[in-house]
Amino acid sequence: MAAIQGVLKSGQFIMGPNVKAFEQEAAAYLGVKHAVGVNSGTDALVIALRAAGIGPGAEVITTPFTFFATAEAISQVGATPVFVDIDPKTFNINPDLIEPAITSRTRAILPVHLYGQAADMDPIMELAKKYNLKVIEDTAQAFGGEYKGRKLGTIGDAGCFSFFPSKTLGAFGDGGLIATNDDEIAEKARMLRVHGAKKKYYNEVIGYNSRLDEIQAAILRVKLPHIDEWNEARRQAAKRYNELLKDVPGIVTPYEAPYARHVYHQYTIRVPDGMRDKMKQFLADQAIGTMVYYPVPVHKLPVYAGSNYRLPESEKAAGEVLSLPIWPKILDETQARVAKVLEATLV
Ligand SMILES: *Cc1c(COP(=O)(O)O)cnc(C)c1O
Repeated sequence: MAAIQGVLKSGQFIMGPNVKAFEQEAAAYLGVKHAVGVNSGTDALVIALRAAGIGPGAEVITTPFTFFATAEAISQVGATPVFVDIDPKTFNINPDLIEPAITSRTRAILPVHLYGQAADMDPIMELAKKYNLKVIEDTAQAFGGEYKGRKLGTIGDAGCFSFFPSKTLGAFGDGGLIATNDDEIAEKARMLRVHGAKKKYYNEVIGYNSRLDEIQAAILRVKLPHIDEWNEARRQAAKRYNELLKDVPGIVTPYEAPYARHVYHQYTIRVPDGMRDKMKQFLADQAIGTMVYYPVPVHKLPVYAGSNYRLPESEKAAGEVLSLPIWPKILDETQARVAKVLEATLV
């Protein structure tokens, strides 16, 4: 409340001192040279792609098992998303399937760190080097997550974050951030977010009105120092669920890859054999809210339909995944009740 009031009293609502300070604090936390605040995670993707030189004619390889915005951003800049199937264990893009999808038009790979778990970045970075491709990380669900001890969103050419309220680091409205060590990408992103102008009223390119709001930045500055503690609490809650659900027949609990520090933005189980929707309804009847992220893989949505993709692992996952309630301060008894009701569905 004090932080919000401070902004109200200052009367500086756009690009004020909190945006600047939050960008510095986020860059220090992530260990990158530049952090550029923008309007949303979606805009972070659009602006990062454009800042990295991705535009019409380019193909960008990504996963179809993600929120629509990942592919939408690629289309927004005039490029074409090329979908590659996932690793069924991690739900993230399967690096072994990327190379066969590379063509003479491929310009970038856009992995998503889904549910808070790292995509397997080493093979992705190797392919990027071999074929001279940019790597833009969709880190919307994984602020604070790690890959082999490195912060997610700092391994590729740029990392894109969302501060949508439900994300691991959430604002009280929309917000986003681009993290990069590349001076040129940072400079272009800073310019694109303010109508393509380096100097006000001397606009050089067609850009966007996509600034991180000063009030949101002030709120994020209060929350950022807690992120490690909150992510650790999510990890503990995930461990408790793993324990509670380990003997429930048919359920597959989340797999944490040895290279990942999963931050459990979502705790997502698989419920096989056509039971998923029944289980979701049964839990809802007991006042337990669950979500399906995502019921339709992006290549099957009408806007991208017509493409002849067959991506069996993504399609299978879409029919099986169920995300259980999780947040840093979830109580043991809440989790025990979720597990009990869930188990009762199967008998
Ligand atoms: C939330 C999310 C986005 C978009 O972020 P917004 O801030 O809502 O625009 C993009 N990609 C993924 C994977 C997301 O979860």
